[in-house]
Amino acid sequence: MTLPTLSRSYLELDDVFYTSQAPHPVMEPRVYVYNGKLANQLNIDLEESEIEYYFSGNKIIPGTVPFAQAYAGHQFGHFTMLGDGRAIILGEIRCKDDLYDIQLKGSGRTPYSRGGDGRATLPTMLREYLVSEAMHHLKIPTTRSLCVIVSSDSVYREKKESGSVLTRIAKSHIRIGTFEYAAFLGLRQLRQLFNYTIERHYPELTTHANPAQAFLREVMRRQINLVVNWMRVGFIHGVMNTDNTSISGETIDFGPCAFINAYDDEKVYSSIDTYGRYSFGNQPSMAKWNIEMLADSILPLIDDDKKKAFNVAKEAISEFDDIFDDTYMEMMGNKLGLVKKDAESKKMIGELLGLMKKYQRDYTNVFFKLSEKENPFTHEDEIDWFKSWKAMISKQDPENTEKKMRSANPVVIPRNHRVEKAIRDRSEFQDLLRVLENPYDNIKYDEEFQNPPESEDGYMTFCGT
Ligand code: AMP
Ligand code: MG
Repeated sequence: MTLPTLSRSYLELDDVFYTSQAPHPVMEPRVYVYNGKLANQLNIDLEESEIEYYFSGNKIIPGTVPFAQAYAGHQFGHFTMLGDGRAIILGEIRCKDDLYDIQLKGSGRTPYSRGGDGRATLPTMLREYLVSEAMHHLKIPTTRSLCVIVSSDSVYREKKESGSVLTRIAKSHIRIGTFEYAAFLGLRQLRQLFNYTIERHYPELTTHANPAQAFLREVMRRQINLVVNWMRVGFIHGVMNTDNTSISGETIDFGPCAFINAYDDEKVYSSIDTYGRYSFGNQPSMAKWNIEMLADSILPLIDDDKKKAFNVAKEAISEFDDIFDDTYMEMMGNKLGLVKKDAESKKMIGELLGLMKKYQRDYTNVFFKLSEKENPFTHEDEIDWFKSWKAMISKQDPENTEKKMRSANPVVIPRNHRVEKAIRDRSEFQDLLRVLENPYDNIKYDEEFQNPPESEDGYMTFCGT
């Protein structure tokens, strides 16, 4: 057995930031899936029985002090006090230069559980495992999944389900909501959390003339990069509340997330997102709104003078739209293999998206076909577009075009209907997981994974289950 010593740097913060809490034991834990490659990277080498009892929470790794984090957050625009209602952090593990949290999700009630049971069902934890690993292989910053344990406990949702515990690995679980919570507590705690976060995630900012301002800019830059990457692969997070927005810039909390098939910027899958707040095309505005909430929380760290602090934050956030547009254009330019980021390229991108929305074209397959230089279209206006695109790229260096397109356009994504099947069937789960490990590999993929469902009428995702 090799399990490096876990540190607990977070427990050096004031104890209002967490509650020491052991996971609640589960009945008859069994390993459903274990990420051996990730375990290797983290230098974790355990026997099956050890995986079973450590990652179900039935035994505590010697020397660890597990805890649940306190935080707050704006949920669909409304401020609420929150915290880990069904998660426990076992400790932090060092890998190369970074520290990673090891967290059990579904490990029972905590003081932050409110009305919840603190548990998680097997299908929802398998969903998080699949999608987070897919995101990693799509080269998008994300928390990772180390294993899913299934137990004989029953968890009651719409129907009775098997209980399960997911082990999640994250650069940290500090959220914008953690800063909102610290600001609510007072300046001492806000400063404390800020210093901790800078040291852990942004050490290069310590020597900056105004570290809080630089921090705001950097978190903003990482959120922009994240959302642009989501849009590159057609991902809708579904619940971009400030408590689900990681300060490290990783994708976190895969509750009601889904991938679009037909392109539609107004697409929503989440059953609770009635007004389309977190629709596909609204994600940039919501990321900006979340950054405004972060700015609001850290104003006292930017300047003692409230007005000055406000103006500094406002100026930083005023850059959001331009940075977003540049990053988005660069990404879409890569998807189409365009070298220049000029007005002509922008027009080409806009026209394509307009046509894809009009004819409900499959987002992944259109770009994949284009990467193959094949015509994915049938209508006259689409074919006209295809001809002008071909004419445009024929003037470029073909190798450069090819390279850009290959790395921007996945061949496979976790299609919703495949994910739904996989979380109910172990062999489907293993097949899908295997395919999603090489999402850009146009040789290895199985044709079947390209097929969008015949209809996705009424497909909906559910939160917090
Ligand atoms: P989410 O938006 O899914 O990230 O969850 C929002 C809050 O609800 C978080 O503080 C979770 O810890 C909590 N929560 C979600 N599901 C449960 C549950 N089954 N029991 C207790 N708390 C939960
Ligand atoms: Mg959450």
